[in-house]
Amino acid sequence: MHERKPAVLGGEPSFKTILPITRPTIPRLDELENDLRECFCSGMITDSKNVRKFEEAVARYLGVRYAVALSCCTDGLMLTLKALDLEGEVIAPSFTFSATGHAIVWAGLKIRFVDINPKTFNLDPEKVEEAITGQTSAIMAVHIFGNPCEADRLEEIARKHGLKLIFDSAHALGSLYNGRKIGSFGDAEVFSLSPTKLVVAAEGGIVATNNEELARRVKIGKNYGNPGDYNCEFPGLSARMPEFNAILGLKTLEKLEENIAKRHEIAKAYKEGLSDLPGISFQEITPGGRTTYKDFAILVDPEEFGLDRDDLCKALEAENIMTRRYFFPPLHKQKAYQNKSSTYDDLPNTDFVSKRVLCLPIFSHMPLKVAEQVVAAIRAIHKYAPRVRKALTGSG
Ligand SMILES: *Cc1c(COP(=O)(O)O)cnc(C)c1O
Repeated sequence: MHERKPAVLGGEPSFKTILPITRPTIPRLDELENDLRECFCSGMITDSKNVRKFEEAVARYLGVRYAVALSCCTDGLMLTLKALDLEGEVIAPSFTFSATGHAIVWAGLKIRFVDINPKTFNLDPEKVEEAITGQTSAIMAVHIFGNPCEADRLEEIARKHGLKLIFDSAHALGSLYNGRKIGSFGDAEVFSLSPTKLVVAAEGGIVATNNEELARRVKIGKNYGNPGDYNCEFPGLSARMPEFNAILGLKTLEKLEENIAKRHEIAKAYKEGLSDLPGISFQEITPGGRTTYKDFAILVDPEEFGLDRDDLCKALEAENIMTRRYFFPPLHKQKAYQNKSSTYDDLPNTDFVSKRVLCLPIFSHMPLKVAEQVVAAIRAIHKYAPRVRKALTGSG
């Protein structure tokens, strides 16, 4: 391969047009046309036949008794917390997408942020147990980027201390832990179907549970809390799933296993292409786990790589390669949480990972060749690291 010069130093950008961090992998319109037309003609356009069909298909895929489809994952998390009638504090990671924390706050609960394992990026079960107090009522864990949590350890801790265990499984539809699908651990697992996730319903969420009473309460909860007689059981939300979304969700679910396999190929190309570079490391997949690679994350050690994460991000932007600093800033550093909504002790691993993490472009239909071009760009940037740093900061 011939030597290329990074775009920040005047070389040709790796891509002529912007390579996005992700893109939804969705069917062609004609594959949905019949179902959409029938739905239009029937006049039943929300929370009806196709939503029931989708819920059944998801429950079957996950191996769980109940899958309740609703408007989005955030609403699903809020309703699950409400339906469980919790009080006090919920243990959650700060290294996660903002919606994890927001759902806890909207459900009227306080957050106790707990640190992560710096290798897997998931909640550290030891630290979870240490943080439990008389105020704690639940644990909300997140399978970060699809990497499954140590779900059995968390279940054991929750059982021992009489706590509810909920998973924000937004990234993890299709993840496995010890051969079992993510979806049936804890009291409930909540999935997202937004366009950046693997199963796409335009917008949507799924609450998966084996608990019949919880499923019933989430079902009425997405209808204002109205059990049918307009004597609301609790203040619910207006959070139903439209039929069109379910039609799209059904079709993308069919391709899920195939799409996970493709993402594993892309991740393999990234790992093979970057593993010998000093200062680049990867999220470690939990032993016994299969991730979905909802995102593909690298950690950048500034001393060893020669550039820090932010400089690499800028240098890649000049190549027309879009990356994301998921998750930076972590929740405990965000404006929304500079108040009494949360408490925490030091979170050194969260701070460490959020300062170094960078997610590279990945989507299910991304050609392998594109991953190879991204690898080549990162290698060239590393090779010219001192000059790139100088060009970006104006100092040596
Ligand atoms: C995407 C995401 C959500 C929110 O999902 P919506 O369906 O958009 O509400 C929640 N948690 C995590 C970790 C996410 O990545």
